[in-house]
Amino acid sequence: MKALVYTGTQKSEIRDVDVPVAGDDQVLVDLAFCGICGSDMHAWHGHDERRVPPLVLGHEAVGIVQTGVLVGKRVAINPLMTCGDCEFCNSGDEHLCASRELIGMRVPGAFAEKLAIDVRNLTVIDDDLPFAEAALAEPLACSVHAVRLARQLAGDHRDAAIVVLGGGAIGLLAALVFEAYGYGNIQIAETNALRREMLEKIGIMRAYDPLCE
Ligand SMILES: [Zn+2]
Ligand SMILES: [Zn+2]
Repeated sequence: MKALVYTGTQKSEIRDVDVPVAGDDQVLVDLAFCGICGSDMHAWHGHDERRVPPLVLGHEAVGIVQTGVLVGKRVAINPLMTCGDCEFCNSGDEHLCASRELIGMRVPGAFAEKLAIDVRNLTVIDDDLPFAEAALAEPLACSVHAVRLARQLAGDHRDAAIVVLGGGAIGLLAALVFEAYGYGNIQIAETNALRREMLEKIGIMRAYDPLCE
């Protein structure tokens, strides 16, 4: 199969690589779409020593299951594989599991045609949800988590002024999550004028330049 392999600082190439073999409790997913995370760019620029080339990056992926019980289903992928059976996994803190592996970190990621992944990392998605939108599930989950933490720490005050630092994908999604939760006073600090213009067009937040205000 073809895969986009990160081969060194600011270098990548399409290569023919072996189709991954699904292990126990894993399935093979025919990938349809994969978003580019800021951390993928970070790695590609040579700023992440945890991601050692040659490596297939990418972890915001969706596709169609090719093997196992969910065969034929359209799925969004949780890229963090965990043991599922330690004290952290059993208490909802899977991100602290000692044997966790994020795809595209040490194991191959999703800038490829196929991916082997634990079946419990899959969420079946509706037939009418476009893959390009479904691929936002992983970054959206990060934003939902951030908003939940903010509400836990600061309380559930819908009239509070919300300030999001940075209007990239995660910041924008966090603003949209706050809006979905009923918050009305949302502001985003963003130094990039083009991004501010785009954010203002969405119409639910005020975007301002933190270098000027
Ligand atoms: Zn990411
Ligand atoms: Zn675990």
